[in-house]
Amino acid sequence: MRIDLHTHSTVSDGHGAPAQVMREAAEAGLDVVALTDHDSVDGWDEAAAEAARLGLRFVPGIEVSAKDRWVSLHMLAYWPRMDAPELAAIMERTRRDRVERARAMVERIAADFPVEWEDVLEHAGSASTVGRPHIADALVARGHFPHRSAAFDDVLHSRSPYFVHHYAPDVREAVRAIRAAGGVPVFAHPGAEGRGRVVPDSVIDALAEVGLAGLEVDHRDHDEATRARLRALVERHGMVATGSSDYHGTGKPNRLGENLTTTEAFEELERQRG
Ligand code: AMP
Ligand code: FE
Ligand code: FE
Ligand code: ZN
Repeated sequence: MRIDLHTHSTVSDGHGAPAQVMREAAEAGLDVVALTDHDSVDGWDEAAAEAARLGLRFVPGIEVSAKDRWVSLHMLAYWPRMDAPELAAIMERTRRDRVERARAMVERIAADFPVEWEDVLEHAGSASTVGRPHIADALVARGHFPHRSAAFDDVLHSRSPYFVHHYAPDVREAVRAIRAAGGVPVFAHPGAEGRGRVVPDSVIDALAEVGLAGLEVDHRDHDEATRARLRALVERHGMVATGSSDYHGTGKPNRLGENLTTTEAFEELERQRG
């Protein structure tokens, strides 16, 4: 079984519509695929319908933005009820603040790299969740950078003077809200140091206490030493180790199926579904 539990569509910062991502997943030879757009469930229905047509097993997911003090984190949620009030309220607040935050970043960036808020809106298109990748696309279209990654290495980086934070729930609150919604929480790329700060093992220990189910160990942003450290944490807490692509379409080098989750790990996540 080829299982990939982390992908993005145009509902957030991916470049393909939900149905398109499912078609690409089938072409990549996947048997099981999760759609995990940032802070939104708006792609689920379209993806589920297309996956059914293709004979692909679809897992509804979300990548919930969260934080531990000033460190930004991503928590994957599998099979949460889409109408669960607490989780829905958290995500709505995040999505709303992400727009204000993107406006503030564009205002700062525009002082040095001419770009308009309308450009960003155009690149966000029908997205439910606006993010830095949409600002990146606008800057690329203006000729300031050759591709998204170059914009991220420069003006969009979390350590850049143009960076602005957005609201996100404390990560413990996010884990509890996901469990309360019947979802299964898995910490996305917990050791991805290239994105900014990461949390120490003690935070993962604390999250295991409040219901964290697993860690996304096999991810392209983790080197071998990081994977070994994360595997030790998984063992210590009897958690589940997953592997995923974090596919964003043409916007990032990540390819569907480049990292996979084992059948045993997937079955354990399924068993924990509320
Ligand atoms: P935001 O959620 O608005 O803070 O933006 C973070 C998102 O930007 C992540 O979810 C990634 O998908 C994307 N991202 C981060 N680094 C890069 C990069 N180097 N190239 C392209 N996309 C990136
Ligand atoms: Fe993303
Ligand atoms: Fe992420
Ligand atoms: Zn992601």
